[in-house]
Amino acid sequence: MFDGMMTTPVTFLLSHHFASELPELALPWQGEETPDPQMLVLNEALAAELGLDTGALRSPEGLGLMTGTVVPFDAKPVAQAYAGHQFGGYAPRLGDGRALLMGELTDREGRIRDLHLKGSGRTPFSRGADGRAAVGPMLREYVMSEAMQALGVPTTRSLAVVGTGRRIQRESVLPGAVLARVASSHLRVGSFQLVAATDDVELLRRLADHAIERHHPDTASAENPYQALFEAVVTAQADLVARWMLIGFVHGVMNTDNMTISGETIDYGPCAFMEAHDPAAVFSSIDVDGRYAYGNQAGIAEWNLARFAEALLPLFDDDRDRAVTVATESLGTYRAKYRSSYSAGLRAKLGLPSGLDDAVVAELSESLFQLFHVSRVDWTTGFRALGSAARGDAEPLRGQFIDLPSIDDWLNRWRALNPDPSAMDRVNPVYIPRNHLVEEALDAATAGDLAPVHQLLEVVQHPFDERSGLERFATPAPESFGRYTTYCGT
Ligand code: AMP
Ligand code: MG
Repeated sequence: MFDGMMTTPVTFLLSHHFASELPELALPWQGEETPDPQMLVLNEALAAELGLDTGALRSPEGLGLMTGTVVPFDAKPVAQAYAGHQFGGYAPRLGDGRALLMGELTDREGRIRDLHLKGSGRTPFSRGADGRAAVGPMLREYVMSEAMQALGVPTTRSLAVVGTGRRIQRESVLPGAVLARVASSHLRVGSFQLVAATDDVELLRRLADHAIERHHPDTASAENPYQALFEAVVTAQADLVARWMLIGFVHGVMNTDNMTISGETIDYGPCAFMEAHDPAAVFSSIDVDGRYAYGNQAGIAEWNLARFAEALLPLFDDDRDRAVTVATESLGTYRAKYRSSYSAGLRAKLGLPSGLDDAVVAELSESLFQLFHVSRVDWTTGFRALGSAARGDAEPLRGQFIDLPSIDDWLNRWRALNPDPSAMDRVNPVYIPRNHLVEEALDAATAGDLAPVHQLLEVVQHPFDERSGLERFATPAPESFGRYTTYCGT
């Protein structure tokens, strides 16, 4: 080989199970050409997990793969069709309006994972929108999803953000980008709703069988595999939403097209972490009625699961009444599952032993939340300071309360149960992606400086290890930051 002419034969091996098994839901498509693709951030750890060579990903072929403009041999990129309830109203045809499923990768552990792009250009599902995405929101999804992963919450991952070199029109002109996202699949409640609306029961069965094989293979051997699939999704979603609640995460757009069958968090649009405890916390600019407020998330997940059950009815039983009985019975398990995950999580946050009665945990935590609420205590720093209080130094915690006699009384009751501070520090993070710091980092990135995004990522990828010099990342937003507003579809 001559110097400068090293061309590595790059082969990205993608399978296309979804496109081949469910062609009715898969529209062959390609990404829009990009004037000047540049790697903005690459997740090297995730690339390694996927067995992908980072040099290859940074090469022109890699950038092409991650913008949908280079299609590896034998790959079949598609835009996926789905429907969904958006803010309670049914939209019969949504689909990937600015996204592409490039195909599936097999990771080092043999698991099949979707490689999916967001911001890759218009598709037949674009409904008048431009199919593009801006650098800021794609980096935002990257930061939020990687923080969630580090916090132990099931989530889609971010492999890379590639700048397209194109200016895109929003309220102002912004640099464009494509996010390469990795998920255990992009099957969602809305995928089933789309098929259910066609009355094609065989297609519905094929979709459900695909979901069973991919996500809940144990359910295949159940007496009623489709009921077992439904219950597995109920379990996964109950646990997922409980985990969101425990870290103060507000998803912001829990439409049924944004609820996965895998139980992974998906679609980091208007999401945010709440600071002061507030069941009514809403960040999304369009959620004027607070449908997706922090305190409503468990109930909304149940509502979405009811829509999923409706879509599955023809598979539960040929007899409609019996199918409804199955659905009702299985959906009826949701609340207990949610309570069990949430209660176990609260018990861990309070450092209490697992044998402890749920009622004691519920009473202690409810009374603590009341005190948090009155004093507008920051959820994350409040819980972390409780760990210090368990070690004997209550001052960092007491300093956050107005009503000292009440918190002292609560601390006495709690300490009598012997909380374990080390166990608490493993579940109560020091660092979350603070809204004001996320905005600051994204503004810098939009202006061309990626250093703050890289630093923020470094911090939130190790959320439980307190490090000196990083105090500003562990501090709530200053009053001057004001009310935080986030946006969909940006
Ligand atoms: P989301 O709120 O991100 O779940 O998106 C809801 C729907 O709007 C999906 O069908 C998206 O593909 C579509 N969408 C969002 N932004 C755009 C855009 N810029 N161009 C085309 N479609 C979009
Ligand atoms: Mg979506």
